[in-house]
Amino acid sequence: MSFPRFLITHLRGQRLRVSVAVAMTFGLVATDILSAFPLKFILDKVAHHQDPTIPFAGGLLGRLDSLGGRDELLPAEVHTQMAVIVFSGAMFLVLSVLNALMTHLQLRIAASTAQNLGRRLRTTVFAHLARLPLDWHGRQRTGDLVQRITGNVADIEKLVTDGLVDLLSGILTLLGIVAVMAMLSWQFTVVSMVIAPPLFLIVVRYTLAIKAAAKRTAKAAGQVAEVASEDLTAIAEVKGFTLEEREEANFARHADRQRAAGARGGRLQSEFSPLVLILLAVGNATLITVGGWLAAGHGHRFSLGVLTVPEGAVTVGSLTVFLAYSKLLYQPMKNLSKLMNLTSSAASGAERLQEILDEIPEMIEPVRVYRGGERLRGEVTLRNVVFGYEGGEQVLRGVDLHVPAGRRVALVGLSGSGKTTLVKLIPRFFEAWAGEVLVDGVDVDDYPLDLLRDNISLVLQESVLFEGTVRENIALGRPDATDEEVAAAARKAHIHDTILGLTGGYEARVREGGKNFSGGQRQRLAIARAILRDAPILILDEPTASLDVEAEAEVMRALQTLVRGRTVLMISHRLSTLGSVDEIVVLDRGRIVEQGTYAELSRAGGAFARMLDEQNRFSAGVGRDRTGTHTVVRPAAAGETRILPVPPAWRRLIDGGPADQPLQEGAR
Ligand code: ADP
Repeated sequence: MSFPRFLITHLRGQRLRVSVAVAMTFGLVATDILSAFPLKFILDKVAHHQDPTIPFAGGLLGRLDSLGGRDELLPAEVHTQMAVIVFSGAMFLVLSVLNALMTHLQLRIAASTAQNLGRRLRTTVFAHLARLPLDWHGRQRTGDLVQRITGNVADIEKLVTDGLVDLLSGILTLLGIVAVMAMLSWQFTVVSMVIAPPLFLIVVRYTLAIKAAAKRTAKAAGQVAEVASEDLTAIAEVKGFTLEEREEANFARHADRQRAAGARGGRLQSEFSPLVLILLAVGNATLITVGGWLAAGHGHRFSLGVLTVPEGAVTVGSLTVFLAYSKLLYQPMKNLSKLMNLTSSAASGAERLQEILDEIPEMIEPVRVYRGGERLRGEVTLRNVVFGYEGGEQVLRGVDLHVPAGRRVALVGLSGSGKTTLVKLIPRFFEAWAGEVLVDGVDVDDYPLDLLRDNISLVLQESVLFEGTVRENIALGRPDATDEEVAAAARKAHIHDTILGLTGGYEARVREGGKNFSGGQRQRLAIARAILRDAPILILDEPTASLDVEAEAEVMRALQTLVRGRTVLMISHRLSTLGSVDEIVVLDRGRIVEQGTYAELSRAGGAFARMLDEQNRFSAGVGRDRTGTHTVVRPAAAGETRILPVPPAWRRLIDGGPADQPLQEGAR
C-alpha cells in the first residue's frame, strides 16, 4: 500500500476534520498575504494620491469619507485620506484576528486528527499483533515491535500535526505571493525573485545536511552510552582481565566519533543562518534600491537587458508589499526541507506498520461449525504428529500419544527432545505439519480458539505477573470471580498468607512483571490463577525448574491441589519427583521411545532407567564436590534436562578418580 493510501485508509472517519483543517490553511494563507495590503493602501494614498481598489469595499470606504477633509485631494480622488487610513487599520486588525482564530483552529484540529490517527494505528496494530501466531512472534525482536507501535506511529502523528499543514500552507503561500506580486507588476516580481533559486538551494541543502549530522550525532551518542553501560556493568571483568586501558581507548574512539559528528552539525548551523541572512539582504537591497528609485518616480523605467519595468509599475505601497513577501518566502522553503525528513520517516514508519498488518492472524473461528459444549472433558490425543518450526527441521517426528481425561502424564527426555514443543501444540500455539492433535476426540483446529484455550491452564518455568493488583493477577482467567473465590484459590496455592503480609493485601500492586515477588511466590500466584481458572487440562512446563529447594517444596505442595481431577501434562527433569504421576512418557529426538508407570520404567532397564541412574550418579558427584577436593560441578541450569552421557572427567570424579581437567557446565 502506498503511503498516501495508507494515510487515507487510516484517516477514514476523520474527513470532516481534515477538510476543516485544509480550509483553515487556505484562510490562513489568504490572511497572511492580504495583511501586507493595508500599509500599501495608506502609502499609495498619501504618496501617489491613489485610491485603494478593493472589490466590494467601495461602500464602506464611502461611509468613512466623512472622517476627513477633502482640501488636499486631487480632483480624481474619490475617498478622503482619513477614510483610507481608518479603513486600512481596521482591515489589518480584522485580518490579524481572523488569522489568530484560524491558527488556533487549525493547530487544534491537526493535533486532534493526528492523535486520533495515532491511537487508531496503535490499537489496530496492537490488536493485530496479539492475534498473530506464536510462530511469527518467535521470529521477531520484541524491542523492534514495541518501537513500531510507539516510535513509528509517533513519526506518522508528527507528519500529520506539523508536516501536512506546513506543506499545504507553504505551497499556497509561495503560489499566492507570486500571484499577487505578478498582479502588481510581473516585471518587478522577476527582479525581486532573483535570490529565490539560490536561497532555495541553500535552505534545502543545509537543512538536510544539518539533519543528517544530528542523526549521526544521536547515533554516536547512543553508542557512547552503550559502550559505557556495557563496560560499567562488566566492570569486575574489566578489572579482572586488566582491560582498563583497552576499554579506555575503545571508549575514547566512540567519544571522538560523537565529537566529530556534533562538531560538523555545529559548523553547518553556524554557516546556515548567516548565509541565508546575507542572501535575503542582497535580495532586499535590490528590492529597495531598484523599487525605491522607481517609486520615487526618478527613472520612470528600469531596464535590465531584456527586462524592462514600465513606468508607474512600482508605487511606494507596492514596494512595502514586495518587502513583506520576501520575508514570507523564506519560511515555506525551510519547511519544505523539514517536510522531506518528516515524510520519509513517516513513510518508512507506515511501511513497518503495514508489514505487521499484512501478516495473517491466527484462525479464530474454525472452518467447521463447532457444536459441542463449552467445557471439555480433557482427553488429549496425538496421532502421528509431525512438526517443526518454520525454516527448521522436524522437531516431532511422528508422535502418538493418548492421555485419557484425568490422567497425569509426565514428559521426560533430554533437553531439545521436543517436550515443550509437544505441549504447545495442544492449545494450538503452533499447528502440526502432519497428523492430528485431538482434544475430546475433536481436532484442535475445529474448536473456536478461545474456547480451546479457555479449557487449558499453563504453568510455565517462570510465570509472568501483569501490571495491576495481586487480586487481578489471580483472577486473570476468570475476571468475574468473587473475593472469596480468589482467596480460596490463593489458600489452596499456599500463597494466601504471603499476600496478607503485603501492604495492601490482595490490592497490593504488582511491579514490572512481578519483580517485587520471589520466583516461588510468582509460581504459586500462577498456580492460584490456574486453580481459579479450573480448566480440565493442565500443562506444567517445569514449574519448579528455576527455584531453590525450599521454594520448590512449597510450589510442589501447591501443585498437588492443582493437579487433582485434571488431565495433566507435566514436563519435568527431576525424575525422582515423578513417583506420583500415572504415566511417564520418554521423548528422544522427537519420538516417544518409552511409556509406562514409574515402577515399570525403572525396572525395564530402558532409556528411563538409564536416565534415572545417571541422575542419581550426578547427584552423588555433586555431593562429593562439596568436600572441596574437586572442581565444583554446578547442577543443571534451569530448564535443562542434563542427563546426557557423563563425560570422562565427570566419571573420574564420580568414581573417585583424579579430576585432572576442569569441569564445565554443559560438558557432554
Ligand atoms: P525440550 O522442551 O524437550 O527441551 P523443545 O521442544 O524446547 O525441547 O525444543 C525442541 C527443538 O526445537 C530444539 O532443537 C529447539 O532448538 C527447537 N525449538 C524450540 N523452540 C523453537 C522456536 N520457537 N523456533 C525454532 N526452533 C525452536
